[in-house]
Amino acid sequence: MKKIVVYKSLPPDVLAYLQQHAQVVEVDASQHDAFVAALRDADGAIGASVKITPAMIEGASRLKALSTISVGFDQFDVADLTRRGIVLAHTPDVLTESTADTVFALILSSARRVVELADWVKAGQWRDSIGPAQFGVDVQGKTLGIVGMGRIGGAVARRAALGFNMKVQYTNRSANPQAEAAYGAKRVELAELLATSDFVCLQVPLTAETRHMIGAAEFNAMKKSAILINASRGATVDEPALIEALQNGTIRGAGLDVFDTEPLPADSPLLKLPNVVALPHIGSATHETRHAMALNAAENLVAALDGKLKTNIVNHDVLGHGSAQ
Ligand code: NAP
Repeated sequence: MKKIVVYKSLPPDVLAYLQQHAQVVEVDASQHDAFVAALRDADGAIGASVKITPAMIEGASRLKALSTISVGFDQFDVADLTRRGIVLAHTPDVLTESTADTVFALILSSARRVVELADWVKAGQWRDSIGPAQFGVDVQGKTLGIVGMGRIGGAVARRAALGFNMKVQYTNRSANPQAEAAYGAKRVELAELLATSDFVCLQVPLTAETRHMIGAAEFNAMKKSAILINASRGATVDEPALIEALQNGTIRGAGLDVFDTEPLPADSPLLKLPNVVALPHIGSATHETRHAMALNAAENLVAALDGKLKTNIVNHDVLGHGSAQ
């Protein structure tokens, strides 16, 4: 019987599904040595939010598939997995709409200061009718710049264009004709997007190319009134440069779901800034979507171990590789 290592807690029905297909071993991934030992004789593994390095799977000669319960796959060395003939599966699509909702929650709450003012009310500060000190800025009718117009970027563009009458522009290495036709999205160079957007929204994957793609020079190129939204990965932004830009008023504010270090350290300067909305990486975190992601990842893993997985594969090249089933 095949052995599957589960390194994140799964809903009971998803665990039961895996147990129908394999011997399942649940491990606590924070116990590094025990995790590596469990991988050594495993056929597959499923989990999320843990870096899996080449060294961790060095002795794992039976390993045929890894299934991440996420769309992002920056926790893996994809080229190394392909060389080893290990399929890497992920969960695109099922989380697109929930994550786009989170992005929009960040846009609205940072523009209208929802979190800051809700805290102000709870602190008993609402003693008179509000005035300009509590005003925010409009979202509707403004220009949204999406850096990375893929699945989630497209779902954000739909909300912006059809729900909020926003002008949408984007950067991508390749054009997204669907977003252009359906939401009037205009493809521009990054420099133009930064200079003309009221909201700059990052939705690129974290890669060597996108790491720190937004830093001091980019903040300086943005409008003073602009708001940065990041629900991609923390490292797409140079976080110290962001803190400086927020402290100096180089930009108006930021709505952040992701950070360099997660959980965000309690002494992060970001937590002291009133113009920051900080969320604990909740992009896809609804009961419905997290269940759908876990099930999708489990089905991906079972199919990959049977040599039948055709979609949701990160490293398609591996299918032509001799040692993959
Ligand atoms: P996707 O469909 O692959 O979209 C990514 C987009 O980024 C593509 O349109 C891609 O287009 C573009 N891109 C890639 N490299 C680029 C570069 N160097 N410069 C400019 N654009 C680039 O992925 P998705 O499903 O929308 O997810 C996007 C990312 O969101 C994930 O990788 C993940 O890190 C993050 N995410 C976060 C959460 C959360 O909880 N906060 C939840 C889900 C996803 P081209 O290839 O044409 O450039």
